[in-house]
Amino acid sequence: MKTEALYDTDAYLRVFTGKVISCDPCTFKEENCYKVVLDKTLFFPEQGGQSSDIGKIDNATVIDVQIENGVIYHYCKTGFLIGEEVHGEIDWHHRFNNMQQHTGEHLFTGVAHNIYGADNVGFHLSDNTVTLDLNIELSEEQIEIIENTANELIAKDIKVRAYYPDSEALSRLNYRSKKEIEGAVRLVEIEDVDLCACCAPHVRSTGQVGLLKVISFGKYKGGTRVYILCGMRALKDYNRRMKLLSASYQQLNCKEDELPEKISGVLEENRQLKYRISDMIASQLQNQIETISPDLKDVTIFIDGIDAKNMREGVNTLMEKHEGLCSIFSGNDEDGYNFVIGSNTRDCSAIVAGLRQLLSAKGGGSKQMAQGSILATRNEIENVL
Ligand SMILES: [Zn+2]
Repeated sequence: MKTEALYDTDAYLRVFTGKVISCDPCTFKEENCYKVVLDKTLFFPEQGGQSSDIGKIDNATVIDVQIENGVIYHYCKTGFLIGEEVHGEIDWHHRFNNMQQHTGEHLFTGVAHNIYGADNVGFHLSDNTVTLDLNIELSEEQIEIIENTANELIAKDIKVRAYYPDSEALSRLNYRSKKEIEGAVRLVEIEDVDLCACCAPHVRSTGQVGLLKVISFGKYKGGTRVYILCGMRALKDYNRRMKLLSASYQQLNCKEDELPEKISGVLEENRQLKYRISDMIASQLQNQIETISPDLKDVTIFIDGIDAKNMREGVNTLMEKHEGLCSIFSGNDEDGYNFVIGSNTRDCSAIVAGLRQLLSAKGGGSKQMAQGSILATRNEIENVL
């Protein structure tokens, strides 16, 4: 026996009375619960990319709702007696929120279809995200035009209705549909804007969508994936972004509009400081090199924060005075070291090969000079050298 879907005829009903047809213990997402079938229900099951309604049947929490061959299964935290009369109540806040997102999707796709001939090839509506996939690539400007047009249609508060046309009327209608539908086709119409086959609950007029905002979009499988938010979700997201923005400009002590310029300034200052630090470390290295006794054959210097160019220059200076192995390691024990080694008498590429073998170093070079990186402590490196 199929379950009578009460949400099909009235998307605004919140409570209903039904009779328990079956109730079997089961597990859902590793939780023990009951799989309950009623003769009728207001709970919209997960389908067409949209997550299910939640709510209560008597005192039992309904955590998920699924549909198989027209039978709707409620996953409930507690069980019922077969034949028992029960009272169901859907979580209206959750449902209405979904109705806003879903109707927004019809509006966006309908407009994209009318203006650019785009077809919807995918839709996902969960508690966190709303994505829709269109089969053509859209530019930023085109997305903006669709978003603006959709919001103008929201302001016009156009009637949205769902109905089942007879097969003759259906054959004369030009409607959008994602797949071939078996059985009666339920059409959702936004007057003069969109006609689409769909089984979900929608708001009764576009004004109730409130607001449609594109959050992001990008190329996807030869078309475009668009992330949208509608109604209260859009407002919530706006508030979240406002908080992030105000935290940022307060921290940088500037006005909102000055933020990009201010960040550029901070980044540039940071770059300049890095150059200055690098110069200071380079002259520190040169000083250190000058204090080393020319009698030493091999020299190894450990220093933090020096770039590859200055390391090479340092090794070249060392090689003028020391005939053995001259090496400079930059870094620390925790993050590892970059290194440059040079020698007029020894084979540097062979030494790096040894470091690769013993300390899993990376790198290589010529007989005279080699470079690389190594994730080891100073002690370990000195022992190997
Ligand atoms: Zn729909």
